[in-house]
Amino acid sequence: MRWRDGRRSDNIEDQRGQGMPGGGSGGFGFPGGGGGGGLRRAGLGGFGLVVVVVVALFFGVDPSQILQQITEPGGYTQDASSTSSTGTPSTADADLRDFVSVVLADTEDTWTEQFKQMNLTYRDPKLVLFNGGVQSACGFAETATGPFYCPGDQKVYLDLDFFQELSDRFKAPGDFAQAYVIAHEVGHHVQTLLGIMDKVDTLRGKLNKADANGLSVMVELQADCFAGVWANHANQERQILEAGDADEGLAAAAAVGDDRLQREGQGYVVPETFTHGTSAQRTRWFKQGLQSGLIKDCDTFSAKQL
Ligand SMILES: [Zn+2]
Repeated sequence: MRWRDGRRSDNIEDQRGQGMPGGGSGGFGFPGGGGGGGLRRAGLGGFGLVVVVVVALFFGVDPSQILQQITEPGGYTQDASSTSSTGTPSTADADLRDFVSVVLADTEDTWTEQFKQMNLTYRDPKLVLFNGGVQSACGFAETATGPFYCPGDQKVYLDLDFFQELSDRFKAPGDFAQAYVIAHEVGHHVQTLLGIMDKVDTLRGKLNKADANGLSVMVELQADCFAGVWANHANQERQILEAGDADEGLAAAAAVGDDRLQREGQGYVVPETFTHGTSAQRTRWFKQGLQSGLIKDCDTFSAKQL
């Protein structure tokens, strides 16, 4: 993916580094090897998070500049397709953050334009970088939750470690696979601004569990389609796609199908905790958005077949 010349977003909130108090191993890595005990860490993580945010706000500085100095990226390595990274792990970390910032900015530019064409105003979401755990308006979430969007505070939450997992565990490497993940979460923000999330929430309360899950699948597949719409326009305007990128995105869409990211029993009221659709469905809707570039072609709610 061609991204280095792209605009950087001002909407990144870097909250990494407070999930593991005193941890010498630094920012990256799952807390305590995952599993139980999340709630105890939740308290610490939430508190630390508040402290960092307050400190950052108080001093009026970019928290990332502080956090990059106090965290060690503990072995994050860029995937093989990102050959431009030749530096130390901390360079790779800064590089990855830079990449996320460019992708976010590109979604801002694309959706601002798309909304303008509908005589609507796009409001940029924030993107929170965290590690370990994070407090959102939708509740506390751990890294294991996977990336998610919270309609309550209109923020995308992302642990950069997830990209390593996407590459290693889900076998979906590549920068465009990562871009797809971000664009999908931004897709939920678009749904929120368009009032789709509100309608879905109202409807969901009236449905039995199976139908409610079916509705959630439609929400997720539409977000996949919106991710494709973004890629379509970003490529038209800024020629971001390189050979193999579309396949990377499609592989990522397939890899995260079928609730593979879901961790049961946390009770968060965010779409990520529900069913996402099969790999085939996710691939199909991402492709649909990518090829057409039209929001109207992402009406999963009226589709005869998902
Ligand atoms: Zn989603």
